[in-house]
Amino acid sequence: MAKYVFVTGGVTSSLGKGIIAASLAKLLQARGFRVTIQKFDPYINVDPGTLNPYEHGECYVTEDGAETDLDLGHYERFLNIHTSQANNVTTGRIYQTVINKEREGAYLGKTVQVVPHITDEIKRRIQLLGQSGDYDIVITEIGGTVGDIESLPFIEAIRQLQWELPEENICVIHLTLIPYLRAAKELKTKPTQHSVKMMSENGVHPDIIVCRTEEPLTNDLKRKIALFCNVKPNAVIEAMDASSIYEVPLEMLREKLDVTCLNKLNISGYKEPDLEKWKLFLDKIKYPKSKITIGLIGKYIELQDAYKSILESFIHAGAINEVKVVIQNIHSEFITPENVSEKLQGLDGMLVAPGFGERGIEGKILAIQYARENNIPFFGICLGMQMSVIEYARNVLGIEDAHSTEMKKNAAHPVINMMEEQKKIKMMGGTMRLGSYPCEIKSDTLAYKIYEKNHITERHRHRYEFNNDYLEQFNENGMIASGINPSTGLVEIVEVPSHSFFIGVQYHPELKSTVENPAPLFVAFVAAAKVFNEKRVVQKVAATAIS
Ligand code: GLN
Repeated sequence: MAKYVFVTGGVTSSLGKGIIAASLAKLLQARGFRVTIQKFDPYINVDPGTLNPYEHGECYVTEDGAETDLDLGHYERFLNIHTSQANNVTTGRIYQTVINKEREGAYLGKTVQVVPHITDEIKRRIQLLGQSGDYDIVITEIGGTVGDIESLPFIEAIRQLQWELPEENICVIHLTLIPYLRAAKELKTKPTQHSVKMMSENGVHPDIIVCRTEEPLTNDLKRKIALFCNVKPNAVIEAMDASSIYEVPLEMLREKLDVTCLNKLNISGYKEPDLEKWKLFLDKIKYPKSKITIGLIGKYIELQDAYKSILESFIHAGAINEVKVVIQNIHSEFITPENVSEKLQGLDGMLVAPGFGERGIEGKILAIQYARENNIPFFGICLGMQMSVIEYARNVLGIEDAHSTEMKKNAAHPVINMMEEQKKIKMMGGTMRLGSYPCEIKSDTLAYKIYEKNHITERHRHRYEFNNDYLEQFNENGMIASGINPSTGLVEIVEVPSHSFFIGVQYHPELKSTVENPAPLFVAFVAAAKVFNEKRVVQKVAATAIS
């Protein structure tokens, strides 16, 4: 029977529940347990797929095509496992299930209520992965902050589970903030006391309190929190701000979060954690041998969470290349023919980001042209790939009005077109081409050199595609399709062999990059940018010597 750990949040949002949950899972995994994490989100959207990145950051996509919260990305990157639709449940999905059942008549004339029907459905979903027999421990992160109206049914479901299951099968961790008042030079525990009190009023008492803090907690302070919040002193865990999220598992190990949790679950006889590979990775990100600058060209750059998986993939790829990847965020909306070279000239590589809609696309096209003409390593993902196709059509093939039908419905030359199966679709939620699909890579191409195999699978999230009516024209004029979906013929990868590194992919390689298995495309792109940077340095030195 699986055991259940819950992670709730108090005082404010954005305390990093996902990272704490993933770090705990990492430690338990390193001690030999079979662990998974799931996230329960209290909003009414059925999934975050219809949410603007400004609202909710990146929408993460799993192998099975679920559009999920970005915390699932952290889970996969830390644990090197695949998650699925079952790992992310929202209030919307819970209600949808209950309402559908009510319409089917499944409640036999009963009044359908939050308690017990909604809470029953929450409990069923909480235990779904645990009952599969695949896991020893299931960690459930509850989104939002304790005290929110919308979190209440979830807290109530935990209360009922605590009552139904043996005590040693549940551990509740409450992540809270201990603010530091600079003027008073003091850490304050009152908000945490209130937050724990509020939880207790709802019938759930935390077993462990993890305290986010900018300053170290003294033993006295830990004792005070323990006393007022009614937990054992060793169950107050300090979580100082870390320089990298990948440091947090080691910090939690030092604070014994995992051991305290295992004790509560009455599990003994576990082994010392095997974190050798993890530590090696950390050393590499802490002590890089050189530095490169990559331009991230997108329209959501004010909000770092919008490109979370891309940024993390660069950290993984940087570590393996022993180089620090400095990301320069460049807003595509503000790139003009006049300023393009000034904005992009210092870059060692350029990644044009995924996205939707018209805003900022002409800037992306200008940036791609600059990268192509100046032999700067270029990597386009999804919309970034589509824009590279439009750029090539306009500036090399001479098709001046080449466009995507996403931006121009009746384009005379729709080199990017809506996928046939998408044309009938009316509902927006969960209807894109989503999840993992195979791709056949042609030998003797850059893509083959990168993946070192012909058959790969990658994850997708799009409605538009390369228009194969133009394929021959592209192939004959220097942009080739090096990766194709074997059953539909859909172009998955384009590249320009005459360029040092120019590749665009319809899929999202960033979604499969983990600490243990960095995405090959990112590794190769960073390596190409490193070579470009070294050449630039040599050229600069030579130029200075001449002058
Ligand atoms: N908007 C494009 C499409 O739907 C690209 C999507 C993306 O970048 N994820 O095809």
